Amino acid sequence: MIPQIKPEDFGITQAEADGHRRRHLTSMIATLTKDIDALIVRAKEHRANGLQDWALEIFIENRIEPLIKDRQKHQSQLDWLNDDGSSLFGQIDPYVIKRCKSVPVHSLGLPGLQSITPSGGGRYRAICPFHNDTHPSLVLYPEDRGYHCFVCSQGGDNIDLVMRLLDTSFPGAIRYLMNYI
Ligand SMILES: [Zn+2]
Repeated sequence: MIPQIKPEDFGITQAEADGHRRRHLTSMIATLTKDIDALIVRAKEHRANGLQDWALEIFIENRIEPLIKDRQKHQSQLDWLNDDGSSLFGQIDPYVIKRCKSVPVHSLGLPGLQSITPSGGGRYRAICPFHNDTHPSLVLYPEDRGYHCFVCSQGGDNIDLVMRLLDTSFPGAIRYLMNYI
């Protein structure tokens, strides 16, 4: 059990703590943006110098994408500080959304997903939480193909599934899934 530390313990108010965190996040985002821009310039130089596509892809995947992911995490935290997160939709990096959609939800211990069994081809089956299911009818697909129930025809992507199972908003589901990407 990790003890909860409150701003008051340090003699500052919640508002002051939020302000500090906001400034920290803003400066981190600015630094990451500068680094990302510099790496993109380098990637273009590499390409101009004849670097092969596969090597360029590795460069982007290993060097640039982690920074983009990091920036998005900071941006999300800042968005949550600035409001309740409701305006997060539309500001989320499409790359992060894509990654969230491909999180293997069968392994997250989500409430409502029971009797999860592998069913070949990277797919999993579970008792469908959306109808009175007696045997696993809900199929969870790998990559970003989401879920589908072959009895009640409910289906969607992983984000939609997390929203429904955790009864949360789109930003809430993104925030949850980002812990697993
Ligand atoms: Zn169903």
